[in-house]
Amino acid sequence: MHHYPDARSVVRAFSPDEPVILNRPQAAARAARFFTEKFPGKSLYAVKANPSPDLIKVLWDNGITHYDVASIAEVRLVRATLPGAELCFMHPVKTERAIREAYFEHGVRTFSLDTVEELEKIVTACTSEAGEPALDLRLCVRLRVSSEYSELSLAAKFGVDLADAAPLLQATRQHCDWLGVCFHVGSQAMTPFAYVQALERVRAAVAEAGVVIDMIDVGGGFPSVYPGMEPPPLEDYFDVIHRHYEALPIAYNAELWCEPGRALCAEYSSLVVRVDKRRGDELYINDGAYGALYDAAHVEWRFPVAALEDDLRDADREFSFYGPTCDDADFMQGPFLLPGDIQAGDYIEIGMLGAYGAAMKTGFNGFGNAEQFVVEDEPMASLYRGDRVRPVTDNVVSLR
Ligand SMILES: *Cc1c(COP(=O)(O)O)cnc(C)c1O
Repeated sequence: MHHYPDARSVVRAFSPDEPVILNRPQAAARAARFFTEKFPGKSLYAVKANPSPDLIKVLWDNGITHYDVASIAEVRLVRATLPGAELCFMHPVKTERAIREAYFEHGVRTFSLDTVEELEKIVTACTSEAGEPALDLRLCVRLRVSSEYSELSLAAKFGVDLADAAPLLQATRQHCDWLGVCFHVGSQAMTPFAYVQALERVRAAVAEAGVVIDMIDVGGGFPSVYPGMEPPPLEDYFDVIHRHYEALPIAYNAELWCEPGRALCAEYSSLVVRVDKRRGDELYINDGAYGALYDAAHVEWRFPVAALEDDLRDADREFSFYGPTCDDADFMQGPFLLPGDIQAGDYIEIGMLGAYGAAMKTGFNGFGNAEQFVVEDEPMASLYRGDRVRPVTDNVVSLR
């Protein structure tokens, strides 16, 4: 991959007609080191946030040894990229064939579940042809917890209710020597308290079940920085999690895990787009809802933007974006702050798209190509630079 100092130099070199993805391996490396050094347990990378093999290698080189995979395609991809990585199949609904391939061909031992049916499926899939049951399964019961402190809910779909958790934990314990409890508080959790209420629920489930627990996985949800969303420092999250984890009634040698997606890769990528047309305060750009800007369109997420031209003089004003496809839904409300004299032909950098941005591009309507370059400058925002001013009101809950 070609290296450039920054977005402007890429634009000067190519005047690209198509959107361009800029990757910052140094930013992902810094995030990985932060988690491996400061999280009081093991940090897995949730591959769905960005499955790029280049990124996965950067994370591995900076201490991330365990990977949360959710599909057989992710299992194969990470195994092919990192033969030595520990893969954890953390989607609670899998096919029997996917489980069997993961166990017998890719060395996966850790699986999550939230029903007795899934438990039976895992046990059957991992039984040998000679009928020998697997003795080395590491199973993780996914508990449903509240998403009320997060910007994106992950509460509706997965997780056993507290009322049904004890019998499932007891049944699962019969089939493994290593039993974990996992949950996900929702993505972009804006306060550490999200994890407190979840760990309280874990405590209730474990106390009622009366089984030995070997691992607690607090999932993802660790935030990144976006306009209008300034979370407290991640150290606050780690402190609160550690304190409440230490108070749980679990095995003395139990492990603490987390599975960040967004926090490890949001700073990895930005996107350079061109303005193809201007209509008042609406800019028609060449990427959108079916490209890397899915969240900007569908959940009105605001991303930082910067104009890349030197000749713009006017003060900033608020713009909305239209993407390139013919669908009215290909619209991003913003507001995005850009110089008032920006016009067709000008380029814009949109930051913080390494998580759930670059990974979600589609080819709908013939758009979706994007060249990739490595750039050496800082991401447009960072939780890891060390110069961040602590927000005045800590633990602000910003809910939509
Ligand atoms: C999506 C997901 C993650 C990562 O979530 P982030 O909010 O990006 O940190 C972690 N674990 C599971 C099970 C997930 O589905």
